[in-house]
Amino acid sequence: MGTELKGALTGKVALVTGGSRGIGAATARRLAAEGAAVALTYRDSPERAAQVARDIHEAGGRALALPADATAPRAIGEAVDRAADTLGGLDILVNNAGIFPYGEIDQLTLEDYETTMAVHVRAVFVAVRAALRHMGPGGRVISIGSSLVERVPGPGISLYAMSKSALVGFTKGLARDLGPRGITATVVHPGSTDTDMNPADGPEAEAERALTALGRYGTPEDVAATVAHLAGPAGAYITGTSITVDGGVTA
Ligand code: NDP
Repeated sequence: MGTELKGALTGKVALVTGGSRGIGAATARRLAAEGAAVALTYRDSPERAAQVARDIHEAGGRALALPADATAPRAIGEAVDRAADTLGGLDILVNNAGIFPYGEIDQLTLEDYETTMAVHVRAVFVAVRAALRHMGPGGRVISIGSSLVERVPGPGISLYAMSKSALVGFTKGLARDLGPRGITATVVHPGSTDTDMNPADGPEAEAERALTALGRYGTPEDVAATVAHLAGPAGAYITGTSITVDGGVTA
C-alpha cells in the first residue's frame, strides 16, 4: 500500500460496495484522489477490482479490493470488518452495488424480487449495521439510489424503482438515528450514467439523452464528484436527504 494522497479526505477510510466497475470504480478512484484509503468490494469482476486498487496505489493512494457478494450478509459483514481492520477504521460507507432487473410486472418472478431486494435493500441494511461497529462522529453513509424513483419514465422498472425507493425512507430514518452520533446519511440519485448497466451507445440511449436538459449522459465521474462532496467537509450538514445527478431529467 502506498502513502496517502493529500486532500479533503486525508486520513479518512472509505468502503465502496461494487467498486469494480462503473460508478463504484469512479467513486473509489475519486475518494482516493482526495486522500481517503479505500476498500472496494466486488463479486464477478475480481480483475477489474484489482486494477482499480492497483491504479490507486500507483497514484500514491491506499486501496484494498475485497470479495463480497451483496446477496450474502455474512460476506458483507466480513468485508466491512476486514476493511476497517486493515485500513484503520471506517469513516465513509458508499452503498453502490446494484443490478437492473428489467421486466413488466407479469414477467417478473419471485426470484427477481428476492435478488433485487437482497442487493439493493438487505445488503445496505447489513453493511450499515456492520459499518457502525467502526464509525464515529464525522461518519458518512451514502447510498446510490436512482432518479427513477422521482420520475418513472416507462414500463418495466417497477421492481427496480421499488427497491431504490426503499433507500429514501431508510436514509431519512438513519439520519434521525445517527445524527446524535455525528453521522450523516444521504442518497445520491444518478440519472442515465454511461456504464455497463446503461451504456451511452445502448438501444435506449438516444431517448434517454433527449430527456436531459444538458443533452448528454452522465459519466461515472459526475456521480463520484457528488459522492465526494457529501463525503467531505462540505457534506457535514447534509443529512436525511437525496441529491439528484441526472442532467436535469427531473427538472
Ligand atoms: P455496473 O453494472 O457498471 O456496476 C455494478 C457494480 O455492482 C459492479 O461493480 C458489480 O460488481 C456490483 N455488483 C452487482 N451485483 C453485485 C453483488 N451481488 N455483489 C457485489 N457486487 C455486485 O452499474 P453502475 O455502475 O451503473 O451502477 C452502480 C449503482 O448506480 C447501482 O446501484 C445502480 O442501480 C445505480 N444507478 C445506475 C444508473 C446508470 O444509469 N448507470 C442510474 C441510476 C442508478 P461485480 O462486477 O464485481 O460483480
